[in-house]
Amino acid sequence: MLQKRGVQTPNRCCLCKSEEETLNHLLLTCNFTRQLWEVLLVVHPDARHALPCWNTVLEVLQNWPVWNGRSLAAEIWDVLPYAVMWTVWKSRNAIIFDNVNVSAGMIIQHIKASVWQWLNMSSRAMELREKVQFSDLVHGWRYVMVDQQ
Ligand SMILES: [Zn+2]
Repeated sequence: MLQKRGVQTPNRCCLCKSEEETLNHLLLTCNFTRQLWEVLLVVHPDARHALPCWNTVLEVLQNWPVWNGRSLAAEIWDVLPYAVMWTVWKSRNAIIFDNVNVSAGMIIQHIKASVWQWLNMSSRAMELREKVQFSDLVHGWRYVMVDQQ
């Protein structure tokens, strides 16, 4: 209806502005979103390697590798795919409905903020979290995920 009147409807992906927006595109295969995944998955070479083979959100969740060990990194790793998808979805809505500009760097920060908050849901994660600062997560992703082990 709106399309017939020439009003632009949000069926074009607002992140890459070129492909049609489907849920799997927006949350995973979009060139813009793919960059976010690549940056975050750098701490897990197997996942980083598997990323281009995952074409749907379901495939990501079904094939998300287990993190070895029971460290803070494992707690972060468990919530990471949900934090990415949740944050990309919220960013998409902010772009479309509030006309906000977002950069990949900003979205990554928001993903890390969601991860940080969600660690509150587990007392074990809260305990492990005491060893690091939120700024470590923001500026030292590799430090928290790999070097801290
Ligand atoms: Zn896109």
